[in-house]
Amino acid sequence: MSDDLLPTEVRAPEGARRMEIEWSDGVTTAYRHAILRGFCPCAHCQGHHGPVRWVDPANANLELDRVEEVGSYALLLGWGDGHSTGIYTFRFLRALAEVGESEAADVADRAFNR
Ligand SMILES: [Zn+2]
Repeated sequence: MSDDLLPTEVRAPEGARRMEIEWSDGVTTAYRHAILRGFCPCAHCQGHHGPVRWVDPANANLELDRVEEVGSYALLLGWGDGHSTGIYTFRFLRALAEVGESEAADVADRAFNR
């Protein structure tokens, strides 16, 4: 994968449970909010080292209320319960798209590089 892939559009309509990203290579990826939250790459959720693993978001608020571009390499996602420390690199988001619309039970043993 090229390092210069960039989102051209991020769609996260209020009240939705799914986020879509259109990329500069024409690909569109989609993510259930539960998948984004369950694979939140922040240190609080994941510790400081190792790949990003599934953390069951059963008790988390899945209302996505903040999407901000960070530099030109990542998106910051903020959630309705105030959790907004997740910096999702574009590279990570492209990898995560593989399971973007999967059910929790199917991703429990998956891990992704940050
Ligand atoms: Zn987190």
